[in-house]
Amino acid sequence: MPVVAVRNLSRIYRMGQNRVQALQDVSLDIYPGELVAIVGPSGSGKTTFMNLIGCMDRPSSGEYWLNSIKVSQMQPNQLAEIRNQQLGFIFQNFNLLMRETALSNVMLPLIYRGLPEREQRQRAMRALHLVGLKERMQHLPVQLSGGQQQRVAIARALVGQPSLLLADEPTGNLDSHTSQEILDLLKTLNAKGITIIVVTHSAEVAAIAGHHIEFRDGQVVRNV
Ligand code: ADP
Ligand code: ADP
Repeated sequence: MPVVAVRNLSRIYRMGQNRVQALQDVSLDIYPGELVAIVGPSGSGKTTFMNLIGCMDRPSSGEYWLNSIKVSQMQPNQLAEIRNQQLGFIFQNFNLLMRETALSNVMLPLIYRGLPEREQRQRAMRALHLVGLKERMQHLPVQLSGGQQQRVAIARALVGQPSLLLADEPTGNLDSHTSQEILDLLKTLNAKGITIIVVTHSAEVAAIAGHHIEFRDGQVVRNV
């Protein structure tokens, strides 16, 4: 059973008279445990696709099932719940709260789950341990290197035990040595069975993926 199944997915942006077909008839499956690289030139539809897969947006037409649940017709409040329960997000700019400690940042996704605070704290500590940052949990982001900040962000993405991790240029702001460390971490997480989709311009990132999906002008031109 695929984690992601999309059929004839299209997204048209309308602005007054203008109409941009950002995605056209995309059909594909992503299975549990895959590490998928999304590639393609700027403007080819990668961000639009990730926004749909990440339940941040709804398609103009077509269907999307996330773990066999049809999400393509859901309302925004239901999508928000799906995001919180099933998805983890990693960004190029880390998107950490700068006034909160590493631990508080990682606890954040659990706040909406009605767990006791002690349980939230324990889970966040386990996630920080998993990314190799247990000793830094009381540090603020400014007291951490870029690579360490991205590890905090990865711990935050994992703490809710999502079925799918979505990463947008996760090494785009890191030097090549630090990028390699983050790639090693993503590989390790994937080896534990976590399904990961990465949007990237980087050949190094694409090289760790076993499944490559290439977009051009809103269509999938390669899916292997
Ligand atoms: P990238 O995918 O490289 O991170 P963006 O997603 O920010 O870049 O933008 C990709 C393309 O989409 C750009 O050509 C940008 O001008 C266009 N774009 C993004 N958001 C909007 C918007 N709200 N209205 C019109 N065009 C947009
Ligand atoms: P990529 O991430 O590959 O750079 P995008 O998905 O951002 O591509 O963009 C695909 C196409 O949709 C581009 O032509 C872009 O300008 C357009 N686009 C993206 N976002 C918007 C938006 N919010 N409003 C209008 N057009 C958009």
